[in-house]
Amino acid sequence: MELPDTKTINLKWPDGYHIDFKTGQFITVYWPDTPNYKRAYSLSSCALDQGSYEVTIKRDGKMGTRIVDWAKVGDRLGVLPPAGKFLPVLEHNKHLICIAGGSGVTPFRGFVREATRRKLETKITILYSVRTTNDIIFNTEFRQLEQENPNFKFHVTCTRLTPSDPWTGRCGRIDAAWIQSHIGEAQNTVFYACGPNELVENTQHLVMNELGVPKAQMLVEKWG
Ligand SMILES: Cc1cc2nc3c(=O)[nH]c(=O)nc-3n(C[C@H](O)[C@H](O)[C@H](O)COP(=O)(O)OP(=O)(O)OC[C@H]3O[C@@H](n4cnc5c(N)ncnc54)[C@H](O)[C@@H]3O)c2cc1C
Repeated sequence: MELPDTKTINLKWPDGYHIDFKTGQFITVYWPDTPNYKRAYSLSSCALDQGSYEVTIKRDGKMGTRIVDWAKVGDRLGVLPPAGKFLPVLEHNKHLICIAGGSGVTPFRGFVREATRRKLETKITILYSVRTTNDIIFNTEFRQLEQENPNFKFHVTCTRLTPSDPWTGRCGRIDAAWIQSHIGEAQNTVFYACGPNELVENTQHLVMNELGVPKAQMLVEKWG
């Protein structure tokens, strides 16, 4: 469990299986007893993790609840191969600004994991919006990755803190000024936004309309 309502599952590949895939792609899963009910999940592991996939799932509707509450070690799930073009541009002079809310942070764990393991010079900044400090997925892991990777920064903003919360970090929604404050060389920055449609569309508006970033420098993954 990452949080009381969010779980990472590790799906071991069948023996002898091999596939080429890329960090940032998603898989589509189904239970063998309901093969027509399929849902997509971004890989929270990276392409260096061969032999299994990891996905991180929030208890939500039917599939989310079944996996978070009922999946147990040894269960078998059907998996359609990784797909998608939400891929990190891991070039040495690039800066990836990765914007997420709630469970939308999942693919960015894969981005940072690959860059850290390969000791890349690519800069990665995650700007992450959560309701409260209890809702930060991968908090410990991202803080640890910040220690290991000097090119990685993890910034959180909380939107619904209770007055008694001791959090001293940023509060409020992600806005253009906050994003702007993290941009170094604009022409080498690639923006990513992932999560529910509303968050992604708001972020596209901030980045492209308010900050004037060309469309070619932004990749989005809309979850519906
Ligand atoms: C490319 C991609 C990657 C994704 N990656 C992830 C990921 O990494 N992690 C993750 O958690 N999700 C991810 N998703 C979302 C995921 O695919 C599912 O949409 C999500 O798990 C919900 O599916 P479900 O079957 O559980 O919900 P559904 O049963 O389809 O319900 C969808 C929503 O409607 C609500 N709902 C359902 N029935 C009712 C009702 N009768 N009345 C009112 N509301 C209702 C549910 O609460 C839920 O919010 C991704 C989606 C895409 C497209």
